[in-house]
Parts: sequence; structure tokens; C-alpha cells
Amino acid sequence: MLIVPFSPCIGCGCSRCCRDETDTMPELPEVETMVRGIRPFVEGRMLVAVCACDCDCRPISIKPSLKQIAQRAVGRRVAAVRRIAKRVVLELDSGDAFVIEPRMTGLMLLHDPPDPEHLRIEWRFDGRREFNSVWFWDRRGLGTVRLLSADELAMLTTGGLLGPDALAMTAIDWRERCAQTRRPIKVAMLDQRLVGGIGNLYASEILHVACIHPAVPAARLTKPQVERIHAATRHVLEDAILHEGSTLGDGTYRNVLNQDGGYQNSHRVYDRADEICPTCSEAQVVRIVQAQRSTFFCPLCQRQGKTTKTRRLKGGHEL
Ligand SMILES: [Zn+2]
Repeated sequence: MLIVPFSPCIGCGCSRCCRDETDTMPELPEVETMVRGIRPFVEGRMLVAVCACDCDCRPISIKPSLKQIAQRAVGRRVAAVRRIAKRVVLELDSGDAFVIEPRMTGLMLLHDPPDPEHLRIEWRFDGRREFNSVWFWDRRGLGTVRLLSADELAMLTTGGLLGPDALAMTAIDWRERCAQTRRPIKVAMLDQRLVGGIGNLYASEILHVACIHPAVPAARLTKPQVERIHAATRHVLEDAILHEGSTLGDGTYRNVLNQDGGYQNSHRVYDRADEICPTCSEAQVVRIVQAQRSTFFCPLCQRQGKTTKTRRLKGGHEL
């Protein structure tokens, strides 16, 4: 498993902060799980407070200031909860929107945080229901919370820094975007300007399901290969959402009720180096490094130069 450089949690010193981190999470399925988890308890409700939690760790990035946020947001209702790539968006009836980016260890929670000392922000709502607050919890503190105007929110998706959402990409979108870069397809898939929402874990899984070698230059992919990536993206991400995302060995990612996701049990190649490939049951999964990130693939199922292949996955899904 990839170990990324440790960023200390200044001022905390607790054992949970002071350890190496594993790969970047959450990705699209985990963030979509957060959105679906809080939506029924948040949409239509009025905010009565937005406040910082009592946390001695390095503060997360919050813009504008909490005082300005409270002035603009308190008394407003949440009109919609949605996802933009790997961000949770709470749209208010004023047109402003909270954009929360969990990055490495951020979580949206309805109750029962993994620990109280890494709670960062509380959104408190009116009325008396099962859950009256939503919290942002973040152990490493790399997550961000922004309150954007409607124009600023529009810029997020039209400003050229974020490509179309991975679940909204058509096969034609994939073809056009892959044709523009000679980078290895695995590296290109991590570029959020090319496609929004895919990270290191799901890129390996998608390419395995699509039977594509991760080092193939994106621009050299054939039309059938790109169509397989398109189909595999939908298949893998939708299945991962169904299982509420992947909770890796470090246990960081949790759903909004502080429970494990389930898709880690369905990983075919990610973090399975030297294990027998579950697809062909012959070759061992290989780990390579691309752009300082671990890539996992099966050298038999994902041979370089392979042109077309159709196969049936477990459960009868055909690509
Ligand atoms: Zn294989």
C-alpha cells in the first residue's frame, strides 16, 4: 500500500494524528455516500447555527471567516445537497452554497464521530428530528470548507479546473479527452481536469475491469478500449456507491453513521500485490509506481497492446 508523506497535525500530538497515512480517500463513491446519507436530514431545513467545534488540532481551511459564514447562512434553508466530483455541496435558498472537500481524512457525519477531538464544524438545524446537526470531522485537517456565491459555484464547474463528472461522462467525452493527452491512461484518469471524481483506488479497479494496461498512453487507446473504460467506470463506481464506498485498513473512511463501507471486499487488484488475480485465477497482481502513486494490475488480464476483449464479470455483467 502506498505511504504518502506525513503532514503533522500541529498542536495535537495525539497518536491517531501521528502516524503514516495510506492512499487518498475519499473518492467519488465515498463522497456520493456522504451526500446520500445527509440529504434526507438536511434538505428543506433551516440553519440555526454554523460553528467551530472545540478542536486543538491544526485548523482546517474555512473561507470566508466563520463570523461571515454565520451572517450569510444562518436563517437560510438548505435547498439541495449534491456532489461535485469529490466535494459535498449544500446549496442554500439564498444562492450561496457550502462546498466541503474532505480530501484525505474528512467525513460528513450525522452522529457518533470516530473521536470527538477531530470534529471541526457543526451545521445545526431547526426543529426536533432524529438528527439536528451535521458535522465535518477531519483527522489530518487537510479538508476545506467554503461558502461560495452562486457565481463562484458556477465557476467551479465551468472554470476549466474540473472536468465532467465520471458518472456523467459519455463514451464520446472519454474519446475526446483521452485523445488530448499522451500520459499513461492511469495517470490521466487522476487528472480532475480530464474527469472529475476518480482517484488512485478506483482508477486501478476501473482499468482492471476494462482490461486495459495502466501504462498505455491515453491518446493511443483504440475506440473499443475507450468504450470499455467508459462502461467499466460506470460499473465500478455505481457498484461502489451501492456498497457505500471502501473502508481501507486504516479504517478512516466511515459513512455518515460512522459505519464501514463495504466495497473493499470487492476490490479486484487494489492493494492486492502478489495475490492471485480473482478475474483470471492465474497471474499474480502486480504493483508499479506511476507519477509517485501505486498502481495495481493483472499482467495477464491487462496486457499491453491488447485490442479487444469481451468478458463476463461475476454477477453476469458484461463489458
Ligand atoms: Zn488476471
